[in-house]
Amino acid sequence: MTIDENKATLQNQIAQAAQFANRDVADIELVAVSKKQSDERLQSALDCGQRVFGENRVQEAQEHWVHRRAIYPDLRLHLIGALQTNKAADAVALFDVIETLDREKLARSLAKEIQKQAKTIECFIQVNVGDEDQKTGIAVEQLRDFYKFCTGECHLKITGLMCIPPADEPPALYFALLKKYADDLGLPLLSMGMSSDFERAIHMGATHVRIGTAFFGERAAIPA
Ligand SMILES: *Cc1c(COP(=O)(O)O)cnc(C)c1O
Repeated sequence: MTIDENKATLQNQIAQAAQFANRDVADIELVAVSKKQSDERLQSALDCGQRVFGENRVQEAQEHWVHRRAIYPDLRLHLIGALQTNKAADAVALFDVIETLDREKLARSLAKEIQKQAKTIECFIQVNVGDEDQKTGIAVEQLRDFYKFCTGECHLKITGLMCIPPADEPPALYFALLKKYADDLGLPLLSMGMSSDFERAIHMGATHVRIGTAFFGERAAIPA
């Protein structure tokens, strides 16, 4: 399958899932996750009109996209991996959406950099929906206070929530919970669902599905 064909297939599946859920397909964004993909594949994606991409590491994202910004001014780049505060400046310089905001220290660093660079950045708060020890994301019980901190004290533009459900459980419950948390806070956007479960995520309200392998093919086996 070519990337062109993968994209068309995915768009069909997204449209059907939206229809099934009685939702407008225009409210669902396909974020093509380009981490560990070859330059040739990135170019194919651009050639077939894809402009929204997700990356999980700042340095790799710079290698993939900095030189392409000038050629494709309508690129929209989402950071979907954990962000260290010492990379906040680079992240603010490159990304349009930061989906992995999950702690006060990071909120402060991002706020400082956004002001310094005079940029408009959208942030999603990442929620540790499965309450997993090793996982990034704010704890569910701290979400409301953290949201208030981000908007009130840091003046960040928070537009949605993001989650990565526990790998070894069916994701539907977690998608439903994230939707409820977003509704409770009055947040319109929800980043949830990957190659294996994006249709389910759309049924449960996802507005952003992060799709890597089903879009590009298997990733290179470089250690993360
Ligand atoms: C890699 C990654 C994806 C894409 O995963 P696929 O299974 O290849 O679709 C989605 N979200 C996050 C946070 C990722 O790191």
